[in-house]
Amino acid sequence: MFAQSVTDYKRRGDRLVAHKMPMNKNGENGKKMLETTAVGSYPKPDYLVKARNAFGKGEIKEKELRELEKKATREWIKIQEDIGLDILVHGEMERGDMTTYFAEKLQGMGVSGLVRSYGNRYYRKPVVKGKLRRPKPMTVEMFKYAQSLTKKPVKGMLTGPYTMCDWSFNTYYPDRRAVVLAFAKLLHDEVADLEKAGAKYIQIDEPALSTRPDEVDLAVEAMKIVTKGIKAKTISHICYGDFKVMYPRVLDLAVDMLDLEFANSGYSNLNVFKTPKFTKGVSVGVLDIHSHRIESKEEVKRGIYKALEVFDPQQVFIDPDCGLKTRTVDEAIEKLKVMVEAVGEVKRELGIN
Ligand SMILES: [Zn+2]
Repeated sequence: MFAQSVTDYKRRGDRLVAHKMPMNKNGENGKKMLETTAVGSYPKPDYLVKARNAFGKGEIKEKELRELEKKATREWIKIQEDIGLDILVHGEMERGDMTTYFAEKLQGMGVSGLVRSYGNRYYRKPVVKGKLRRPKPMTVEMFKYAQSLTKKPVKGMLTGPYTMCDWSFNTYYPDRRAVVLAFAKLLHDEVADLEKAGAKYIQIDEPALSTRPDEVDLAVEAMKIVTKGIKAKTISHICYGDFKVMYPRVLDLAVDMLDLEFANSGYSNLNVFKTPKFTKGVSVGVLDIHSHRIESKEEVKRGIYKALEVFDPQQVFIDPDCGLKTRTVDEAIEKLKVMVEAVGEVKRELGIN
């Protein structure tokens, strides 16, 4: 079965190498396939976790915290280069919650008191309580810093308008659509600023979409605004979604690529994407970020070959299922190493570079 797949894809791979990448807007020649990347977050080293707590208690100055965030970013860029990832992420050392980070930078937003999420977990939920405005770029400085450390592309990274709305309270706008579209307009400006700063890849995450597949139309409407006129390659990560409900409508999201989890569900969700044909690029998650266990190279390779039964190799990036921030630093590194080795072997077996 496995050997059969290899043979099939050698043949298919040869045929497909000559073709242009259909999703490519950047005028690249499309030779690159199965590029490796990561979804966004990495675990914070112990010294940064301590510094964030100390800063929360007013024990250290902001400047000190920012320096340690940069130090941790430098370390993650170096680690990714050493492992051999193709497209890097900055690792989100400066972010805690992916909506609160932006809520604290936007006018018209505040943060609630403690709210129960599930079980005994409590967190502070963002609140939209006035007209939303972006006084200045929110992610550009850290993007520029991370990109200055490497010749490899670093992704620009932000939380999408639908998720910003869904994970916030609203006490100002008349309805959810108005909130989502207000976020979309200011996030468009952020994406444009990232592009101006040199970002070749910009990821606009919509993890909330998985819990509200009935609102995919609203997310589609908003993403059109966010990416309008943008030439950088755009990606959207959707977390563990029920794609049986959302597919193929989700292909209308105005991004070049969707970034999806497959390892955690044992690749069973691949079936959903067989018909109709997947028309975008796809980042295929091959590492289960919920598990401490380090995947074997063989199981990651099997996963990649399964994905290549559904997607063409020039459509595909390979990455973990989701952000790695919940793993330990060592686990994250080991998992990424296995992933890059597995991709290298698959490419050799398929005769692609
Ligand atoms: Zn995710």
